[in-house]
Amino acid sequence: MPELPEVETVRRGLVPLLEGRVLERVEVLDERLVRPIAPRDAEQLLTGRRVLRLDRRGKYLLLVLDDDLVAVHHLRMTGSFAGPAAEEPRHVRLRYFVEGLAGPVRYNDPRRFGTLDIGSSAEITAYLDSRLGPEPLGPDWNGDALYERLRRRSTSLKAVLLDQRVVAGLGNIYVDEACFLAGVRPDLSADRVSRVGAERLVAAVRARLQEAIDVGGSTLRDYRGVEGEVGGMQERFVAYGRAGRPCLTCGNTMRGARIAGRGTTWCATCQPTNRARKLG
Ligand SMILES: [Zn+2]
Repeated sequence: MPELPEVETVRRGLVPLLEGRVLERVEVLDERLVRPIAPRDAEQLLTGRRVLRLDRRGKYLLLVLDDDLVAVHHLRMTGSFAGPAAEEPRHVRLRYFVEGLAGPVRYNDPRRFGTLDIGSSAEITAYLDSRLGPEPLGPDWNGDALYERLRRRSTSLKAVLLDQRVVAGLGNIYVDEACFLAGVRPDLSADRVSRVGAERLVAAVRARLQEAIDVGGSTLRDYRGVEGEVGGMQERFVAYGRAGRPCLTCGNTMRGARIAGRGTTWCATCQPTNRARKLG
């Protein structure tokens, strides 16, 4: 499932294809994608609009259009985009025919959980504000902000970091990666994380997200860049998916269990409490 770095990689791939260009024609091939709007209505709303810019909030991709309209894609499990140069995907659900491009930009989604919402900028902002906390790479998020959220919760740290209202854009991969880098156990009760632990978690989240963005995200199953390119972060995982394998820091066997309903990996030696090793 694409998380913040994968959605950001898609956004960057779409910028040269969409930004500043007019959507000359739009084909919605799956009514589920735009529900509750009817496909023909969605096509009519989008056709003729110019894409002013591409934004991202958490895992949401925003096409900011003229006439105060915003189209919001969420890729969910298996959504992806294919630019004109990429080969035709097997499960195309939408086509953007764009001014000046040789072929359409296609939205592909085998499992059909992805969504496309269309509204005024005020409607979309209200919708996203009700679902999303601060951006982890933005200026509004820091150790104090995270600590204030953690100390009120007695669920696991993992569950709190997965909560999009606490911080936007994290999923299973980058939560495990960040907890390992910060030296904090993901099953620790959130209210037992110290202020220093929260600072370390913020730094670790940022470091793992930034590294992932720099290498084009993680390709595990379906996720690809806009031109079909494979990400590089899966080669660099230090925790995610490494249960039963030796810890890259200490060599002890990594633990695996379900925490917050998600498969979770950690090292009991390197992440013993919230007072573990320092970053770096
Ligand atoms: Zn270890």
